[in-house]
Amino acid sequence: MDQDGTRPVLIVGAGPTGLTTALLLARFGVACTVVDRHVGIHPLPRAVHLDDEAVRILQRAGVADAFARISRRATGLRLLDANLRPFAEFRRDRPVGDHGHPESNLFDQPDLERILRAEVARQPLVELREGVEVTSVRPSDLLVELREACSGAARRVRAEAILGCDGADSTIRPAIGSRFRDLRFTERWFVLDVRCERPLPGWGGVDQVCDPRRAATFLPLAGDRYRWEFRMHPGETASELARPERLAKLTARWVTPGSGLEVLRAAEYTFRARITNRWRHGRVLLLGDAAHLTPPFIGQGLCAGLRDAHNLAWKLAAVLGGADDDVLLDSYQAERAPHAEAVIRGAVRVGRAMTGGQDIAAALRRPATGLLLRVPGVRAAAQRGIATLYAPGPLVDRRRHRRDLSGTHCPQPTVLVDGHASRLDDVLGDGYTLLAAGPVPPALRARAQGLRAPVLQLRPTPEAAGRVHDYGQLDDGGHLRAWLAGGRACAALLRPDRIVLATAPQSH
Ligand SMILES: Cc1cc2nc3c(=O)[nH]c(=O)nc-3n(C[C@H](O)[C@H](O)[C@H](O)COP(=O)(O)OP(=O)(O)OC[C@H]3O[C@@H](n4cnc5c(N)ncnc54)[C@H](O)[C@@H]3O)c2cc1C
Repeated sequence: MDQDGTRPVLIVGAGPTGLTTALLLARFGVACTVVDRHVGIHPLPRAVHLDDEAVRILQRAGVADAFARISRRATGLRLLDANLRPFAEFRRDRPVGDHGHPESNLFDQPDLERILRAEVARQPLVELREGVEVTSVRPSDLLVELREACSGAARRVRAEAILGCDGADSTIRPAIGSRFRDLRFTERWFVLDVRCERPLPGWGGVDQVCDPRRAATFLPLAGDRYRWEFRMHPGETASELARPERLAKLTARWVTPGSGLEVLRAAEYTFRARITNRWRHGRVLLLGDAAHLTPPFIGQGLCAGLRDAHNLAWKLAAVLGGADDDVLLDSYQAERAPHAEAVIRGAVRVGRAMTGGQDIAAALRRPATGLLLRVPGVRAAAQRGIATLYAPGPLVDRRRHRRDLSGTHCPQPTVLVDGHASRLDDVLGDGYTLLAAGPVPPALRARAQGLRAPVLQLRPTPEAAGRVHDYGQLDDGGHLRAWLAGGRACAALLRPDRIVLATAPQSH
């Protein structure tokens, strides 16, 4: 604890990654201070899509119900040719996906930041200080220099851990000797948020227009809001494209005269693909855009930041609480970096398909390619690239076979507790858990005991329906049994972030 009352963890940056990390740490009983150089919510248009795994993380941060009120379910993603004819479609429209939430969700980032801030205001373990800039960090002794934006007053504080959630132009990244690696994608795009009186035509999902002359993205957000993103040509400026006659031309393929279009925000962004080479120095760690940048074509930038927060929060809580050694934090980069890089490369591939010139766009337009993308196995492979799969290490056992569940996320079905339906994560505790569909082999049972993991027997039998006995038996309608069987396992040991640490094989 430092001399001026700053809490053990100092989070630099009150964007969505910083605020979610703070709420997750509070859930694990760790107090923190979040500082941001600005006051209020970042006003420019940014994230509009979150997947179901990201919403599950928001659920653990306490804001899933509020998020449901500010978002709407999307149908998925389509690739269109220059005449807006779809040639490939990735449907993600289940109202309740594996993670217990709609698979694909559209919203407006300032609305999300508003609900995160409201939750932070309710959470006594989190303190938010706005108008406070971190000017330097000394990682060797966790010393931070802060400057009050309005008075210019400077002071030094010491923390037990410093989390750099300070975005693309991070101060913390260079302070720990870390550099961005360029994954070779840099393009200027014009981003336009509008409100429209009359509903615009569409299928309720994201449209990527693969037109080498002017690649574009179109998204119907919640309510009467819509988003376009247009690739900019060399020499074009955002102010020029924002002129009414240029806007009318850009949107003419979607908007008919008299639609009642009102421009809310228009801005230029440079979309980049970057990942940092070093995510941690001691107890100074990078999360979110401070650690990785992706072009937004598959809507995954913020999703990755939320996954960072979820991966790190319980580990940091265990280290600060003395339950684990600092070496546990090594697994943060080892687990998150490969996944983040795979997702960025996936986004770049979609970007190249949209903008990479006539050869790629023309190849993608060929019916065979479109059909290929519709084949379930190909689509599943594409989606597996986004779903979390962590490599073996100290916190994930080596996978015994291709379908082994180790390193994957446990799904989140609805469970019945005393006749009431709840989401699984709301019923499980915040520590490790052993889920079992029968007798547990002694070795895994001993491991679970060492981690103080309660054993939950999955009993979808009629006599167990509607009841949880002594927190010992769980009725989930058989979903988790089916999931275990799919991984040829009879039991799975879950980490606090619901990633499978280890499984026990089925006996036959
Ligand atoms: C056009 C566009 C569309 C996008 N669409 C999607 C999408 O659909 N889905 C998706 O998942 N992602 C999307 N993203 C990405 C998403 O917006 C970002 O990944 C997300 O905002 C990153 O959040 P963050 O909290 O890590 O960083 P930021 O939101 O950048 O927050 C960083 C904070 O740190 C503060 N800060 C910086 N330096 C200091 C300092 N020295 N001292 C104190 N405070 C400091 C800043 O003021 C800021 O508030 C999109 C981005 C863009 C630009």
